[in-house]
Amino acid sequence: MSPPTRKDVLDRLSRVKGPDLSGSLVSLGLVSGITIDGGHVTFSITVPASRAGELEPMRAAAQKVVEAIDGVTHVTAVLTADRPVPVAPAPPNLNNAARAASAAPKGPTPVPGIASIVAVASGKGGVGKSTTSVNLALALRDLGNRVGLLDADIYGPSMPRLLGVSTRPEAHDGRLTPPMGYGLKVMSMGFLVDEDAPMIWRGPMVISALTQMLREVEWGDLDILIVDMPPGTGDVQLTMAQQVPLAGAVIVSTPQDIALIDARKGLNMFRRVDVPILGIVENMSYFLCPTCGSRSDIFGHGGARDEAGRLGVPFLGEIPLHMDIRSTSDAGTPIAASEPTGVHARCYRTIAMAIYERLMAEARQ
Ligand code: ADP
Repeated sequence: MSPPTRKDVLDRLSRVKGPDLSGSLVSLGLVSGITIDGGHVTFSITVPASRAGELEPMRAAAQKVVEAIDGVTHVTAVLTADRPVPVAPAPPNLNNAARAASAAPKGPTPVPGIASIVAVASGKGGVGKSTTSVNLALALRDLGNRVGLLDADIYGPSMPRLLGVSTRPEAHDGRLTPPMGYGLKVMSMGFLVDEDAPMIWRGPMVISALTQMLREVEWGDLDILIVDMPPGTGDVQLTMAQQVPLAGAVIVSTPQDIALIDARKGLNMFRRVDVPILGIVENMSYFLCPTCGSRSDIFGHGGARDEAGRLGVPFLGEIPLHMDIRSTSDAGTPIAASEPTGVHARCYRTIAMAIYERLMAEARQ
């Protein structure tokens, strides 16, 4: 049986009425992010955030018609919010500045144009936080979101390498235009700070560089900005968590006890500054032998899932330890983009979906 095509999916979806029965999902331009991976079809339907609950039957109907296509084995249909973009607060009149300051809301102000900022963090380095950040950003893009990636990892800025981007951001009227990598707008400490600069020098400038990368960059309208945080839970990280208007944090951990202890510290850091924990990802969860395909639980398996249960935070999913994930990272061709129909890209998409759903749930609260 031949696999379903994009046209098959669109044909079926054009039979499903849109939110107000005025046209079809397709004629109203609400369908995006169609990916077909063998028999697994994924797509998004854009709806106003406030109507997501009420439009669940429409999503279910769309899923059903696509499930009925020959060769389709599994369908993931998600509602994507047509979220209002936060508007920057008007600058206060000088006479009223003192009053405005005292009335100003506590905490960081939103970045105009960016609907949700999500931190990806880990208690310690080397657990695959940057690799996970970039692949999750790509998976979120595949779900139909406009996504940016901010590499705030001062100790080892890696996005230029991971995305194979060597163009420096261009400056116009004092603002930087972020380079694009695989459809993501990307800014990195690596573009602003010499990789060989001593750590001591980098430390004090981190916060101001981060503020600049957030607020003086032409991000345009983004649904999600992923911030790859520096590893660890020191003062710099805490200040960053306070300065950036975060919608939530994702903690990456390996299954070993020691990494989990560090992950717990990371989690507590976000809790201290009232940032919602979207969940824990277990990276290098198990080893898949590239030759025979057999699975070994090198670092023990399931530690992060158990820990998430104990801590009362969602477990978002597992990513195997696999050579292809490492080699594609090193080559600047992240696996979610270079092998989008592969098993690893699917892992990242499942986790991206869970993150997206958690973000929607947080937004509704
Ligand atoms: P961190 O940002 O936590 O320091 P990195 O993302 O730089 O970690 O990953 C550290 C090393 O591990 C890199 O060489 C990367 O390619 C590799 N790596 C990360 N995740 C995986 C994985 N799931 N399978 C194989 N190698 C991985």
